[in-house]
Amino acid sequence: MMRFKSGMAFALVLSALRAWGGDYCDSEVRVVNPGTVSAKGSVPPADAIVLFNGEDLSQWQSTSGADASWDVRDGKLSVKKGTGDIQTRRSFRDIQLHIEWRIPEGIAGEGQFRGNSGVFLQGRYEIQILDSYHNRTYADGQAGAIYGQAPPLVNAMRPPGEWNSYDVIFTAPRFYDDGTVLYPARATVLHNGVLVQNNAEILGATGAWGRPGYYEAPVSGPIRLQDHPDPSKPVSFRNIWVREINPKVPESAPTAGAQVLRIVSTRTVKQLLEDPAARAVLARCVPELVQDPDDAEYIGQRTLEALKGEADITLTDAKLQLIDEQLLQALFNRQHAGADR
Ligand code: MG
Repeated sequence: MMRFKSGMAFALVLSALRAWGGDYCDSEVRVVNPGTVSAKGSVPPADAIVLFNGEDLSQWQSTSGADASWDVRDGKLSVKKGTGDIQTRRSFRDIQLHIEWRIPEGIAGEGQFRGNSGVFLQGRYEIQILDSYHNRTYADGQAGAIYGQAPPLVNAMRPPGEWNSYDVIFTAPRFYDDGTVLYPARATVLHNGVLVQNNAEILGATGAWGRPGYYEAPVSGPIRLQDHPDPSKPVSFRNIWVREINPKVPESAPTAGAQVLRIVSTRTVKQLLEDPAARAVLARCVPELVQDPDDAEYIGQRTLEALKGEADITLTDAKLQLIDEQLLQALFNRQHAGADR
């Protein structure tokens, strides 16, 4: 629970809560008309990985690894109730995701039992799909919520029978090599073009029960779509595509004890400065090392990780992690220059 230093501060918070219009659990999310959509929805950008283009499920499988058995008909993909969730064959880390979904006309049921599905990022973090058009439920369980954690900022839901879209910018969590969190996952979500999650922190795997937390330390994971066990008519999808952000950074194995710092812990500063690509990264990230190596011999023989807290430079764990990723990217790009074309 929050503690307040004085009665005055408590009164201020109380008045702010009253102005906001209620408590967290019982607040009705404001409705915003999201405008119109074209007949066939989104056209993917040229560099997108198309996950569903209306024709087949080749990019998808069941969670057990068998072929996906959901229905593909008339350019759309529909949940086949009782067959279980489906997920992408590929795994992703940081992504931009576009997905369109539709609650069928004539949907019945109430609350969570009315057009419930969901998009699970890395197979763990659910952006809720639900018929939230004139259908109240708990705020962090309605469409656009990070399920059980963060209500959408507004309710931009279209009525049953019309297509909705989600555009999601997802930054995967990062972990130290002992599995503890360096920084948590974050998601920005546009529902029908309307901002509903603004770089929201994800507290860990989502679910209806239990305290969320990061109990595993996966680097990447598939995109999973939910077959929710309720009797309402199935949700449909179309135009699913994803763009990877920083896709060329190699993944470390998502096993306990995996080395997270791969460059700054294994190469000396001298080795890095001798490589033009790495030197350029250091010039950006730790210019004091490149421009004014007062004690070049001493610094040059050590790794950046070893210099943490030792040299007269600011090297936090978070900064080391970022430098490490940039070095990986730069060295990978240099090795593969021209190979893509
Ligand atoms: Mg759901």
